[in-house]
Amino acid sequence: MTFHIITLFPEIFDSYIKGSILGRAVEDKKIKIKFYNPRNFTKDRNRRIDRKPYGGGPGMVIEAMPIIKAIEKAKGNKKKVKIIFLSPSGTQFDNNYAKKAAKNYSDIIIICGRYEGIDARVKKAFKMEDVSIGNYVLTGGELPAMAIIDCVSRQIKGVLGDFNSLEDSRVASPEVYTRPEVFEYKKKKYKVPKVLLSGDHKKIEEWKKDKIRK
Ligand code: SAM
Repeated sequence: MTFHIITLFPEIFDSYIKGSILGRAVEDKKIKIKFYNPRNFTKDRNRRIDRKPYGGGPGMVIEAMPIIKAIEKAKGNKKKVKIIFLSPSGTQFDNNYAKKAAKNYSDIIIICGRYEGIDARVKKAFKMEDVSIGNYVLTGGELPAMAIIDCVSRQIKGVLGDFNSLEDSRVASPEVYTRPEVFEYKKKKYKVPKVLLSGDHKKIEEWKKDKIRK
């Protein structure tokens, strides 16, 4: 899987994609992450790509053409490409979306907006889908893009050390415990639930399912 990220701020991704599971996935060539800065696709001599919105209103809008050129470059002649246009009002991204994307595409192009967003005509030039990571507005598409890269990568075989550690293919509890078995804080004792120490795997699975239901 290759992720092609169109962003004005590629440096934001650096530490997140270099560490831990994603860093290893890149090293092991399970995934590739490429960046395209729209500023490199403008003819403006100051590399300016934001302009005032037609119809008025606050904030600036990113021009369509530098984004179109960046998509063109990322897409090339590739066939199994998904283009995601990040937008707070798009289709809600979730594990199911990630699973399907990992299965059906070899390349995902993610367009990160900034300011008031991107000139909507970009969406007429290529087939793409508006995707949201949640019902809230962030400053830019970089955090949503990282969430999508992370979540889709986890669905690619070999990215997680043990594929069984994929949360949705086993009973993963939202409540987890580790050593010590008991600790004291402000004169109160905090204990690990007894069932987790019982060695009874059937009961433990039941307990975990119960936690998910709650
Ligand atoms: N005025 C725009 C609107 O209502 O769609 C929001 C602009 S927002 C400040 C800047 C950019 O951040 C958006 O263009 C989008 O790419 C990204 N963004 C912000 N929140 C997001 C979310 N919840 N999911 C996906 N992308 C988001």
